[in-house]
Amino acid sequence: MEQFTFDRATTFAQAIQAGAKSPTAQLGATVRFVAGGTNLVDLMKLHVETPERVVDINALPLDKVERQSNGTLRIGALVRNSDLARDPIVLRDYAVLSQALLSGASPQLRNMATTGGNLLQRTRCVYFRDIAHACNKRDPGSGCDALEGHNRMLAILGTSDSCIATNPSDMNVALTALEATIQIQGANGNRTVPIGDFHLLPGTTPNRETVLEPGDLITSVTLPAPAPGARSLYLKLRDREAYEFALASAAVVATIRAGAMTHVRIALGGVGTKPWRSTEAEQALEGKSVSPATFRAAAEAALKDARPRSENAFKVELSKRCLVRALTFATAQA
Ligand code: SF4
Repeated sequence: MEQFTFDRATTFAQAIQAGAKSPTAQLGATVRFVAGGTNLVDLMKLHVETPERVVDINALPLDKVERQSNGTLRIGALVRNSDLARDPIVLRDYAVLSQALLSGASPQLRNMATTGGNLLQRTRCVYFRDIAHACNKRDPGSGCDALEGHNRMLAILGTSDSCIATNPSDMNVALTALEATIQIQGANGNRTVPIGDFHLLPGTTPNRETVLEPGDLITSVTLPAPAPGARSLYLKLRDREAYEFALASAAVVATIRAGAMTHVRIALGGVGTKPWRSTEAEQALEGKSVSPATFRAAAEAALKDARPRSENAFKVELSKRCLVRALTFATAQA
């Protein structure tokens, strides 16, 4: 373990001030906030994350799930994944989120992992997690051993010549289909970022994964009020039934009126370098009747820009079938 200092923040001002004290401007690379620690501590043990300073934010009052007067749902950044998955409002109005959370990790990890931390969950690319290998995300400019290496689990959408790593979070896929917004406090004030703009494509700078600046603190996630009669579902395909990351997943939110789909939102997991909203699939479904042919057309549209590598071409068809199956289940709900 590398040497680091450890602080506890009891106020937002303390946390933001501590987080902004990174000597390296980009990414705040030497200061990290810790809450559940389920990802950060793992990566510190592997010497992938080597912060000079770790700031514990568990004392901040960010552990509530609250319905707002305008019908939206505000989820505090420190709400544990287990608590969020079992929240009565989430179970009733945002089933896709509960299902996604319960499909991730293990009960013990979900009891610790937080909403804010899950948003920042880092890739499982084996070369990223092994400092003996070249990785542009971990060490900018060093290369990418995954391009010609073991890339079976990696992305086919949103990739670049610098990085093909998959965003591993199930929660993020559900939040994308739900059009969540993320509330952030920072040294320059507060702001709200739609989840679609929060994660960045790798491009030539895969080390920069989100729009967060040094000292920025995620305080909450807000879900829009559910559309009347909306149905939602999360389907995850993986190598084993539990404690495994997605090979392909699909989150579906839709309303059915007179046999046609409206207000359709589609997001894919396991295949994108960020949680993958498919507006192509949405357009193929919006206003169309519920039918296998319509679902397959949407799946074809969603994957039309897929760029597989040597070991992950199977994900193209798998992801299409995953989306078709998710749409079939979602629209068959009573
Ligand atoms: Fe690193 Fe990305 Fe290449 Fe994996 S795919 S080795 S995370 S640069």
